[in-house]
Amino acid sequence: MNINMKLPKYSIGVGDRFAHQAEAQLRACVLAADAGVDVIPVWNKSNREHLIIGSEPSSTRRAADAAVRALGWKRPYFVDADHINLKSYERFLGPCDFFTIDVADKIGQKSDPMQIKDFLDRHPELMGDLAIPRIAEPFQIDRAFAEKTAAQYLAAVQHAGEIYRALVREKGEGNFVAEISMDETDRPQTPPELLIILAAISDEQIPIQTIAPKFTGRFNKGVDYVGDVPQFAKEFRDDLATICYAIERYDLPDNLKLSVHSGSDKFSIYPALKAGMMEFDAGVHLKTGGTTWLEELIGLAEAGDHGLALAKEVYADAFAHADELCAPYATVIDIRPAELPSPGAVDEWRSEQFVSALRHEEGNSSYNPHFRQLLHVGFKVAAKMGARYTDALEQHAEVIGRNVTENLFERHIRPVFLA
Ligand SMILES: [Zn+2]
Repeated sequence: MNINMKLPKYSIGVGDRFAHQAEAQLRACVLAADAGVDVIPVWNKSNREHLIIGSEPSSTRRAADAAVRALGWKRPYFVDADHINLKSYERFLGPCDFFTIDVADKIGQKSDPMQIKDFLDRHPELMGDLAIPRIAEPFQIDRAFAEKTAAQYLAAVQHAGEIYRALVREKGEGNFVAEISMDETDRPQTPPELLIILAAISDEQIPIQTIAPKFTGRFNKGVDYVGDVPQFAKEFRDDLATICYAIERYDLPDNLKLSVHSGSDKFSIYPALKAGMMEFDAGVHLKTGGTTWLEELIGLAEAGDHGLALAKEVYADAFAHADELCAPYATVIDIRPAELPSPGAVDEWRSEQFVSALRHEEGNSSYNPHFRQLLHVGFKVAAKMGARYTDALEQHAEVIGRNVTENLFERHIRPVFLA
């Protein structure tokens, strides 16, 4: 399959809600390069985020280009139209060169029985005892399982094909990176299902360079993984083996890799990512999102005075509108209201108290994941403040930037990508 624009082996998706931290984020990639490892930045922002903030995709592109110029970054970088679909892709066409085609909505949608039959007839190799190199137990896929899986995913993959072809008409073939995401759904995809999905993607001739399945466990926004870590490690490893196999068998791009839509901060599975990447000499795309926005609040709180006051104001307003702010993210947050401090109590906090409640340090007894999750989804409050918020970002750019860089490099890039 024809691709001119290739996503390198290691890449990190960074979110920059207010388009003020691109340079601080890129600095983390510079630190990685200085340490001898190329980790390519991909600035991602979904349509949902743009709508909540009232921003345009072109602002993400401008901020990325400016950061690249300012730091003299000579390696590749990308701007990702995150979770787009047929209704939302158009505004991303100009500014973006990476498209995360989201078809989670179409999972389980009925396909034409004839098309399912055609798919199964086309792929007799999928059925039987399928030995995948480096997976101990062969996949046992009978026709009933393949049919059930096709019924579940074929319509979604065909829809991805439709979106992909629309993008090709506008951008030209090979001129962008394509990802397919299926993470925002209820049920994880197992490695045998992933194989069937990849066969279908190959049939649609979508030269995906990354795929984001839903993994086992909970990937709540901004907080650590909740689930069975050894089980995750096994599935992640088997997914890597499945992808290696599928690249050859189905002529998919040789740099195809997993995209981990982490929702930020899945620290307890990072060793499993690292171990799998080492074993298979595999790349990964680690997509983070709101972790940078939380570092803005941490930086403001650290700055004290009116920075701290502004951070407290964001919390008070988020607390007052918690239901509305949480609704769009209901499936990816677990907030116990009883664990949220009252705005009155927070008002009394000193800088250190606010920072240690918010900063994601599991060992710190003051760290409060409920407080953190509410603020994670509370960026609409800051968006409503408009210039009052972004002026504060500029005024405290140094302390905020230091937090943004250190967070990305020390907590994310170092454990996943560095030796
Ligand atoms: Zn996602």
